[in-house]
Amino acid sequence: MSKLQSIKGMKDILPAEVGAWQRSESVMRRVVEAYGYREIRFPLIEKTELFARSIGEQTDIVGKEMYTFSDRDGDSITLRPEGTAGCVRAGIQHGLFHNQQQRLYYVGPMFRHERPQRGRHRQFHQIGAEAVGWEGPDIDAEMISLVSRFWRELGVGGIELQLNSLGDQEARRRYRRELVDFLSQYESHLDKDSQSRLKTNPLRILDSKDERTREIIAKAPDILDSLGSQSRVHFETLQEYLSAAGVEYRVNSRLVRGLDYYSRTVFEWTSNRLGAQGTVCAGGRYDGLVQDLGGKATPAIGFALGFERLVELMSAQEHEKPADVYLVLLGTAAKRTGLVVGETLRDAGLTVIGHCGESGIKSQMKRADKSNARVAILIGEDELQTGTYVVKPMRSDRKQTTVPEERLLETIRDVIGGGAGEIDNP
Ligand code: ATP
Ligand code: MG
Repeated sequence: MSKLQSIKGMKDILPAEVGAWQRSESVMRRVVEAYGYREIRFPLIEKTELFARSIGEQTDIVGKEMYTFSDRDGDSITLRPEGTAGCVRAGIQHGLFHNQQQRLYYVGPMFRHERPQRGRHRQFHQIGAEAVGWEGPDIDAEMISLVSRFWRELGVGGIELQLNSLGDQEARRRYRRELVDFLSQYESHLDKDSQSRLKTNPLRILDSKDERTREIIAKAPDILDSLGSQSRVHFETLQEYLSAAGVEYRVNSRLVRGLDYYSRTVFEWTSNRLGAQGTVCAGGRYDGLVQDLGGKATPAIGFALGFERLVELMSAQEHEKPADVYLVLLGTAAKRTGLVVGETLRDAGLTVIGHCGESGIKSQMKRADKSNARVAILIGEDELQTGTYVVKPMRSDRKQTTVPEERLLETIRDVIGGGAGEIDNP
């Protein structure tokens, strides 16, 4: 029979990589919570209409990337391609935005039917946050500071922040017309994608990677010149706040975001260590979305960060957590004792791997070595008779010792050092 394989673009995350995933997730949860964000969990599937209405019919996501199905009732449902739509839908539905301000965050998988390649998968994972109910640049600055803290606390360097403003809906419409007028003069010189975007989503052309298109874009009108006075003040104040907070950034007036709902502030953090998919985190302000989805007009801003790209920037091995103890158990009576001792040590906060299966001391010691545990504890006939344990350091030249039960824990702690048995919380 042929072997079953995972679906194209869907990646297994194997135990050797999981340490980096867990560590980054726990650090980022701690950081967002340190700014007062609270977690919200919403479904992986929603009515297709939600995404069509919020992200926009003309976007890549809705136009060609969504996993859309009819369910058994004939309703059109879609696996969530991003988190903002579901988060806002849930907030409106449960009255969270009714005369209230909310700092919310979410973590989990997203689905987009894109061409799989490095840094681009069909199931990928994001942490995202949304601040709903604030209109000023102070919350923008706070959110950007928060993401900057991610990089510091995760020890990820070489990341650049790019910043732009798209203005309000009206300025955007104005700019869109100007841009279409300008680009139409060069229509036949644009790449194929950009030619069709000229009619559907012209702002996205600014994002084109095609060289000839880029030369044309270089002469296109600047979106920052079309900002209204309020948007201009918003953007300038944001920059003042960021400078005061010591956050480095570069204004890039060609930065646009693929989703329709953005207005005013948009931002992206990129790394040149990720190949073609250099953006690791992105977001912006979406002051019209809550109303578009049926709520009261409410300003909001959010970001989303991709775990796959982040983890690529962290070296996997450093984050693997070896066990503290491997129990080498020789014979049935030793197994019985091992089960009890294992529980006692776990009560004390240690991670303990008990040997399972019938094998001799040599092969058990080999397993202990391979497990990377820091200490092996041997229990055999002699130890059972004398009520003692052999404690063998595995990662140093220190000699093994034989100790009675009441000295077992302190001996282990002595070998593995101070941090042992504490919750890993770097
Ligand atoms: P890209 O420019 O890579 O297409 P995007 O603008 O479509 O990204 P967003 O919707 O802003 O991406 O998502 C935020 C983050 O989620 C991205 O910066 C990236 O880190 C991650 N991301 C988006 N799509 C994918 C994917 N298909 N595979 C892996 N990560 C992704
Ligand atoms: Mg994309």
